[in-house]
Amino acid sequence: MTGKKAQRLLIVSNRLPLRLVRKEGQWQLERGSGGLVTALAPVLRNRGGVWTGWPGVAAEDCPENLLELLNQAGQNLGYQIVPVALSRREQRLFYDGFSNEVIWPLFHEFPTLARFKPAYWVAYQQVNRKYAETVAAQSEPTQFIWVHDYHLMLVAEELRALGVNTYLAFFLHIPFPPLDMFLKIPWRLEILRGLLAFDLLGFQTARDRRNFLECLRALMPNVKWRGRGRVVVGRINGREVRIGDFPISIDYRSFVRRANSPEVLAVLATIRHRLPDRKILLGVDRLDYTKGIPHRLEAFRQALRTHADLHQKVTLVQIVVPSRTEVRQYRRLRAEIERLVGAINGEFTRPGWVPIHYVFRSLSPEELLGFYRAADIALVTPLKDGMNLIAKEFCVTNVDNNGVLILSEFAGAASQLQNGAILVNPFHIQEVAAAIYQACTMAITERKRHMKRLRQIIRKQDIYWWVDSFLRSAIAKDLSEFPQLEEYLPLSANPEPVRSSL
Ligand code: UDP
Repeated sequence: MTGKKAQRLLIVSNRLPLRLVRKEGQWQLERGSGGLVTALAPVLRNRGGVWTGWPGVAAEDCPENLLELLNQAGQNLGYQIVPVALSRREQRLFYDGFSNEVIWPLFHEFPTLARFKPAYWVAYQQVNRKYAETVAAQSEPTQFIWVHDYHLMLVAEELRALGVNTYLAFFLHIPFPPLDMFLKIPWRLEILRGLLAFDLLGFQTARDRRNFLECLRALMPNVKWRGRGRVVVGRINGREVRIGDFPISIDYRSFVRRANSPEVLAVLATIRHRLPDRKILLGVDRLDYTKGIPHRLEAFRQALRTHADLHQKVTLVQIVVPSRTEVRQYRRLRAEIERLVGAINGEFTRPGWVPIHYVFRSLSPEELLGFYRAADIALVTPLKDGMNLIAKEFCVTNVDNNGVLILSEFAGAASQLQNGAILVNPFHIQEVAAAIYQACTMAITERKRHMKRLRQIIRKQDIYWWVDSFLRSAIAKDLSEFPQLEEYLPLSANPEPVRSSL
């Protein structure tokens, strides 16, 4: 074992931070999107390490030179990339099936959308084993392995079975459901047992952690707990498991710097030129039923119906980023959104004013930041969300401090941002409509006061703070056993992340 290798952090997630795409007959790697990549890429870039995951294309369809492409990309990124090959069948049963038709709907409290097919569960166990085998082939005995998210809840148990005794940590990016919801899963005990094979379990909010502990108390009453505060400790079969809440965040300084870049300012100028004298409301969401887009559109319609003084004065820019578009449910959701946009625009449009500008595509980072800067109000109203990074990105990019955040109380971000945002119940259409009116008519002094507070919270608890606090709670267990962890701390003192070409 070389000293250098032993200091590496090993990240495991369902997807790699890159995805394979075929353009004009050539395979290329593109930077992946989504909260996890945005959050972790700067961390590994700064510190080096390994990222293991699926490259996004079924094994049968992958190019022969995949490893070469990944090695090259890894060199650009500043860390090693190790792929896990998934067949089309595994992708269908493990990813589309168990992960996204059982865990995703149930953990977001949409139990009627969950399909508990036994074949999904079999594939979930097999694929978790496959990830564990790839990791086991990589890991050095003293490495710190950090597994991410709901697709991989059994990886620690599989690693232990393979004889890996290194420190295993897990972070759940989505919510953990209340007991009554969790009990519906036919394989609830197996999932809990799988999670308890980790040394450290991280959740987004105190509520998620509380839900998890309640499930444990109900289903595994023999586990004993001690401690208060952010991290509690459980004793299971002579082992300790730490359980804490660590709200994920964003790279504050990078967003502030990029908010003033010439490219972003150019986008901002174009939007402002095309929509002069308008209050711009902004929604940015992946196409997903958890994001509450139809409810939000209904609330906007309600606001326009109740407050004629908003007519010709406000524009809602709703950006929907395509996701899982091959799934019928998501196609139906898209159709519903587009029907509502059409109906609302049909009802209110006048010469020179279209109330909703609807965009169905993903944006370049410059475009996205340009929209954040141009927006007067962000509407972040998911029905349930692990954290919601859009809320944080909007606030941090709002360098003029004059924007307003309307935030769902069911977004994990509400636990940190409740004191500067207008908090709403996204199911309560009238309440959201009233919040829209309140935000549109809020005095500049009040807006600035709230936005400054929001930005300060995110500045203090940025992505480096998140990694610091997560790793620190691991260190608290036994520093002498895992001395390499010190290498990662304190990340927040790191002045400038190294920029990569991807
Ligand atoms: N995002 C992106 N491309 C876009 C729009 C958004 O990469 O066109 C990013 C955005 O910057 C944010 C992430 O997608 O970091 C969305 O994260 P969030 O936690 O809000 O939701 P998720 O999609 O992970 O459920």
